[in-house]
This record gives sequence, structure tokens and C-alpha cells, in this order.
Amino acid sequence: MTGRQRGYSRNDSRQPRLPKDQTLREQAMVIREFAKNNGISIRVAKVMFEEAEEEEIKSKTFKHNRQGICPVCEVEGNLEYGDYFIDDCIVKFPWKCDDCGASGKELYNMEFTEHCSVEDKDGNAYENQD
Ligand SMILES: [Zn+2]
Repeated sequence: MTGRQRGYSRNDSRQPRLPKDQTLREQAMVIREFAKNNGISIRVAKVMFEEAEEEEIKSKTFKHNRQGICPVCEVEGNLEYGDYFIDDCIVKFPWKCDDCGASGKELYNMEFTEHCSVEDKDGNAYENQD
């Protein structure tokens, strides 16, 4: 056997080394196991895991952003509102969905409109000239 052949056979498994980080190492082992069980290459299994992970992130966003509609289950009119509070000129209404149990807050901008019901100390009414 020549040195060259010996070198080739030593690397024949073609498996990349497992990472040192514990979490990454466990993940790599799960991917290897999955590849072995499904008769696919580790590279393909890795891509499948990455795609599944991306899909999971995508599923955690909500599509509809509408007042009174639960962003998680999209049922209308089942939000139970708590007491509002004002935070930096934004009115926040905490809600809980009676349908799916999700929770969140509806935000409303506060904007100056006008002065009204203006009276001086003697009770004389003042109208807006504009
Ligand atoms: Zn809901």
C-alpha cells in the first residue's frame, strides 16, 4: 500500500469534525442521525434542518395588523381588553384573545387636536378664534 492510498482511506468517511460547542455538537449529531436514518447525505440533512429552522421563524410572525382582530388566530371581536396606559404619547391597551389565549397590546397615537371647554377663573367661556 502506498502512502497516498493510506492517506485517502484515512479520510474516506468524509464526515466533518463535530464542533466543540456543546449545543452545536448536539445539533450536528442529530443531523448525522437524521441523515443516517433517511439514507441521505449529512450536507442534505443540514440544508433540510436549516430550512425547517427558517420556516419556524417565519411561522412566528403575524400577517394581519388590524384593530380588534387577534394577530395569532385572526378571529375578530374576541379580544378582552385590560386597562389602558399611556407611554410616551402612545396609548396602550393590553389584550388577551378569548379564542386562542394569545396576548398583546394595541397601540394608539395621541395627537393634539384642540383646546375645548375653556373658562377663566370666573367661569366665563372662551371660544376658539380660529
Ligand atoms: Zn387569538
